Amino acid sequence: MQLKIYNSLSGEKEIFKPIIEGHVGLYVCGPTVYSNVHMGNVRTFLSFDFVYRTLKYLGYSVRYVRNITDAGHLTDDGNVGNDRFVKQSKLEKLEPMEIVQKYTVDFHSILSLFNSLPPSIEPMATGHILEQLEITKTLIEKGFAYEVNGSVYFDVYAYNEKGGNYGILSRRNIEELFSNTRDLDGQEEKKNPQDFALWKRASSEHIMKWPSPWGEGFPGWHLECTAMSTKYLGLSFDIHGGGMDLKFPHHECEIAQGKACNGINPVHYWMHANMLTLNGQKMSKSTGNTILPMALISGENSFFGKGFSPMVVRFFFLQAHYRSVVDLSYDALLASEKGFLRLVDALKTLETLVPSDLSSLPIVSWVEKCDAALLDDFNSPILISHIFEVVKWIFYIKGGEETISHRDLSFLTKKLNGYFYDVLGLDFPKSNNSEKLDDVLQILIDLRNQARKAKNFELSDKIRNKLLKQGIELKDGKNGTTYSLK
Ligand code: AMP
Ligand code: ZN
Repeated sequence: MQLKIYNSLSGEKEIFKPIIEGHVGLYVCGPTVYSNVHMGNVRTFLSFDFVYRTLKYLGYSVRYVRNITDAGHLTDDGNVGNDRFVKQSKLEKLEPMEIVQKYTVDFHSILSLFNSLPPSIEPMATGHILEQLEITKTLIEKGFAYEVNGSVYFDVYAYNEKGGNYGILSRRNIEELFSNTRDLDGQEEKKNPQDFALWKRASSEHIMKWPSPWGEGFPGWHLECTAMSTKYLGLSFDIHGGGMDLKFPHHECEIAQGKACNGINPVHYWMHANMLTLNGQKMSKSTGNTILPMALISGENSFFGKGFSPMVVRFFFLQAHYRSVVDLSYDALLASEKGFLRLVDALKTLETLVPSDLSSLPIVSWVEKCDAALLDDFNSPILISHIFEVVKWIFYIKGGEETISHRDLSFLTKKLNGYFYDVLGLDFPKSNNSEKLDDVLQILIDLRNQARKAKNFELSDKIRNKLLKQGIELKDGKNGTTYSLK
């Protein structure tokens, strides 16, 4: 059977044919590191972590590139407005690069709490200014971009005149776009409202700026992904992913830039993960309808009655397909927690099963069904439903109602553990409340308190987060720090 991927470009599931057999180039738009990641961001990155893990499970060697946006992201999608990093640096009284460092560290520690694998390459926009300048120069030379007052804009009209198809991904009718949006809304420099910034002139007080042939400035947001994806994966590569809200204008602009600059479509398969909502509304930094990962885990939030462990939350996300909208609600989280604990119980029971001479259950065809779910556009909810079939079997075998042969038992153990740990990326704490654990934890609690006293919050947070990842939550109270197993 072959892997099928839903390609946002065609709107259909297509048989996946990598450019180089056995290898996959995967690019995912990373976070804009000017504030803490919220659970919506986390869902998108975990969706692609699952895609990455599945591709590896299917035998591909994957080069996974996920960027860090640390420059050029303006408050209005990249054309006018304030630079988010500069704005935040003023608020926090830190250097812009301190903001970048602070929130990159936060991003990494949050994703590792949720067991997300690191990408193969994690390039930063500020490290690729030269590449972005080169693309901008080429686009001007080829007549796809123009300079005004030290800023350079991509000329969408010229692109379409020369055979481009702006709107191809988001299925927007370009003629309508042109006729409906005449008002340039403070963007008088542009020939057309659809034109987008490749390079912006920096005012004298702007801190993050670089020299260019058009004076000091900084790159537009869309350009960085074109520069970094093509640098590390080739001018045309296999899969590009991101959240659904990046389809337009970000990915539409990436297609136009790549095609205009290099003469070929940059991406073969466009994948978009759907949104996470909170109480039925899109979670977003700008509206404030968000919940931060630590608030969800600790239970210190105004939405839910208690906290949920990172693995329960990861499991909750995987119970939905990456292309479905998911609503974060208390009842759904409680249901996932119950399901996850039953699954963990089954995995522990599996270790205690005694094999018989014969199997009464179809283990081989069960594996085929699980693999078929993965091959069908990374269908995690179907995989999980098959896994729960086997959970039932495990308890039947334990109760003596079914039997399993030696061979099937070792096959089932290998496959079920593979799906649980490697593909779904789940885990659970192996040890329980022993005296030794108490002693070791006391050492860690003391170390963390020392770090906090020394104001080394990076270390103290690291200790707390790493323990949380193991299912151990620290609580600071009047009588010192205590811990509980989650
Ligand atoms: P940002 O840091 O805002 O650039 O976003 C990082 C990633 O999170 C992008 O792929 C966004 O599409 C994604 N994202 C933002 N909000 C949500 C949401 N509510 N649900 C799922 N993904 C989101
Ligand atoms: Zn991007």
